[in-house]
Amino acid sequence: MPTRFDATRTPASSRPLDVLGVPGEINLDYAASAPCAQAAADAVAELLPWYASVHRGAGALSRRCTLAYEQARQTIGDFFGARADDHVIFTRNTTDALNLLARALPAGTTVVTFAGEHHANLLPWPRGSVRLPVPTDPAGAVRDLASALSELRRGSSPALPVLVAVTGASNVTGERWPVAELARVAHRHGARIVLDAAQLAPHAPVDLLTLDVDYLAVSGHKLYAPFGAGVLIGRADWLDVAPPYLAGGGATSRVGPATHDVTWTTGPARHEGGTPNLLGAVALAAVCTALGDADRAALAAQEQALLARLRTGIAALPHVVELRTFGPDAPRVGIVSFVVAGWDSADVAARLATEHRIGVRDGLFCAHPLAQRLLTEAAGRTGRRDLPPTALRASIGLGSTAAQVDRLLAALAELA
Ligand code: PMP
Repeated sequence: MPTRFDATRTPASSRPLDVLGVPGEINLDYAASAPCAQAAADAVAELLPWYASVHRGAGALSRRCTLAYEQARQTIGDFFGARADDHVIFTRNTTDALNLLARALPAGTTVVTFAGEHHANLLPWPRGSVRLPVPTDPAGAVRDLASALSELRRGSSPALPVLVAVTGASNVTGERWPVAELARVAHRHGARIVLDAAQLAPHAPVDLLTLDVDYLAVSGHKLYAPFGAGVLIGRADWLDVAPPYLAGGGATSRVGPATHDVTWTTGPARHEGGTPNLLGAVALAAVCTALGDADRAALAAQEQALLARLRTGIAALPHVVELRTFGPDAPRVGIVSFVVAGWDSADVAARLATEHRIGVRDGLFCAHPLAQRLLTEAAGRTGRRDLPPTALRASIGLGSTAAQVDRLLAALAELA
């Protein structure tokens, strides 16, 4: 039976950012899916007795559910600094949000992205998209984008839209990308920018206005809420005229008897056909509220201290090699990828799970172009010929402890 990590703490509702877990199991795989926060569990428990249809019923329960859903939209939009006229559209996750945006692009849009992106931010974009190589430092990313956009503008009609698609923090290395600078460059060239905030949002405040990004995509399950709810937030104009992402009930204002005689509604509902995921939306909003009330600088400082402990520990293990794109001191969130020389990464992950009850991820992390490049780079940097073809990733966040990090380091040391 899952319990909170520390059962000796004060009652659940007073500690909304405690995370649920199973005693004895060490979860160092937050970047895949973070554990559920108490705030999310409480919000779901409170709403469950009221469970009734959203936007489709006249009863008191249904009205309360509709209100809760729309309040969740408002809370999440406020948390991410949405502009008054932005749409906040509920999706299943970041992948869904970016696919929605890809389907809403005006004809002839060119998307510019970097090869360091997660597949969710590489694969949805239309043919003719530009994929820039992974730069070796953040300033290089800004320079490369500026020259690619200048080139693009020289070669194409200025009327054709351009969308820059970048991550806030890499799911492989945790390295933070210079989003505000990239946004400035994009806008200077008349382009828009979408931020894949899947990995940044759990670790740092993300604000559309401050970063000046046009769209933002995020997943609830990486932000301490349960699976199945995410959002796309951003400029209304393209979204209000695009074909509905999910055609069906709720997305229309009128359907006539003839085939295709339909008037699609505008606003978020245009893309949210079908009965929505109320509990997911409410849980995500509850986490946003709890994070909004928290001292995020203090949380980030704790995480950075643990991250430093993990990276210093890894650096001290001669047979373990960290993967990175930028220099060793570049800003990053609580994610570290590495390889153990002479060891197959899947075997290491399995041993960590079975012998030490530590959960990490192994593989290429749905970012094959980046992971493969980093593995090649690591072999070159260390001169080692015994590095495996896939990697391991440890990732931390709320609820992670120094003892957990030390257990991982000790287990890795044992493999020497
Ligand atoms: N972008 C990044 C940077 C990610 O790490 C992930 C998930 N690993 C995604 C997008 C996709 O998120 P989801 O699987 O929740 O759609």
